[in-house]
Amino acid sequence: MRKPFIAGNWKMHNNIAEAVALVQELQTALEETESCDVAVCPPFIALSVVRDSLAGSDIGLGAQNMYWEEQGAFTGEVSVSMLEGLCDYVIIGHSERRNIFGESDEWVNKKLHAALTHNLRPILCVGENLQQNQAGETAEFVGGQVRAALAGVTAEQVPLITLAYEPIWAIGTGVPATGEAANDTIGGAVRGTLAELYGDDVAQAVRIQYGGSVKPHNAAEFLSLPEIDGALVGGASLHAADFAAIVQEAIKE
Ligand code: PEP
Repeated sequence: MRKPFIAGNWKMHNNIAEAVALVQELQTALEETESCDVAVCPPFIALSVVRDSLAGSDIGLGAQNMYWEEQGAFTGEVSVSMLEGLCDYVIIGHSERRNIFGESDEWVNKKLHAALTHNLRPILCVGENLQQNQAGETAEFVGGQVRAALAGVTAEQVPLITLAYEPIWAIGTGVPATGEAANDTIGGAVRGTLAELYGDDVAQAVRIQYGGSVKPHNAAEFLSLPEIDGALVGGASLHAADFAAIVQEAIKE
């Protein structure tokens, strides 16, 4: 049995005061988190204060990105070793990083290795765009992203990674994939590729989230399905009541 995992990607929202207020509201709204792993991923500037606010709580903390070098002349970047000890998780390869900031599969792979070496648990995002989806290329493209990201990652390391299947056309649009399509892609292109690379036992141990317009009213459609182990939530994670309601759906399933 894989424990469900709901993570909130706050993206570029909330200043320090707003971040503290949101995480405090969330702690009040979340009654129980024992049967579901929960994490919030604020912007870098708020990681430290949110961590302080979460002291003694079961809610985990994640960063939205990082650079793989430990230090150096990389103006504007935040290094993997700066995050080590500060947070538990790091989102890697989000489609906004890939598409707006030009991150390649090779970069994603380097970040994944660096995170694992520095005791950060990666949330590795993969997903196709609308054109690829409509052309029937989803499985091939997503499978390729999984292979490229995991190059050189060992079977012992893979279960430390959470994968998030996020069709790009479903992110922030209010138009999610259907539960059936998400479950099929996660079971086939994502978990199936893990099975080819590492064998079935390892593939079955890895948690795979769905992400893309998950809201309280549609969360059960995804979280009730056998291949889907949780959700990566963007917009709805900015409202404590909505995010808590999605966590409650995961606990129910
Ligand atoms: C995301 O940012 O990863 C995401 C899934 O966003 P949204 O829930 O807003 O679609």
